[in-house]
Amino acid sequence: MTWHATVLTLFPEMFPGPLGQSLAGRALQAGLWRLDARDIRANATDRHRTVDDTPFGGGPGMVMRPDVVSAALASVQDGRPVVYLTPRGRRLAQADVRDFAAGPGVVLLCGRYEGIDQRAIEAAAAQEISVGDYVLSGGELPAMVLLDAAVRLLPGVMGAADSATEESFANGLLEYPQYTRPAEWCGRAVPPVLLSGNHAAIAAWRQAEAEAITRRRRPDLWAAHTNNVARALAAP
Ligand code: SAM
Repeated sequence: MTWHATVLTLFPEMFPGPLGQSLAGRALQAGLWRLDARDIRANATDRHRTVDDTPFGGGPGMVMRPDVVSAALASVQDGRPVVYLTPRGRRLAQADVRDFAAGPGVVLLCGRYEGIDQRAIEAAAAQEISVGDYVLSGGELPAMVLLDAAVRLLPGVMGAADSATEESFANGLLEYPQYTRPAEWCGRAVPPVLLSGNHAAIAAWRQAEAEAITRRRRPDLWAAHTNNVARALAAP
């Protein structure tokens, strides 16, 4: 069955947006995944098609109503995981992306205003996922981030030439630095080992660079990586 993404949003016209271009766009055209963006407002029942109301307990802004959001979810739920994009969620990681790509697809719920009434999130047993520790004005860009990351891992989307196996996070490390022609540019030379043709030496250099850059830039990833290596070495 084709991997299927449904986005519930107040701005369906934002989609496919960037997902209609390049790798994801070609895969969409080729039928390697499906995308439908649905307007949450279509589920509003009053004359003014109201989707939000003032927060109980006071405070600024508006909150998206649980009845309207829940009706939007009910119209698309079919066993795919439901994700509410929110700055309060767990930070999206490559391991999550791999899990989503391995499943049947996702239903992505995009908030606006101050967010969505918590009861609708809980009733749908939605996973809450953030794309980083900053606040955007809506969940549409985070939904695109998650979809772009997942779609490139779907079978047939990336050619062998740009395989995901050596990328950052694939093996718990950041990627080694990349270089292309010219071999010397503005007085800066490419590391000589990369021109040596010695594949074992190149692989060793890349591994050492990946480890050094991860240790320097991401002590959290480095600690997890060294723990995993120690556990693997201790295993019978
Ligand atoms: N009042 C919310 C809070 O402080 O956590 C922020 C609401 S934000 C203005 C509106 C919507 O944008 C959210 O409901 C969510 O869907 C989306 N959003 C904003 N920042 C996000 C982030 N870092 N990750 C995922 N979604 C985000």
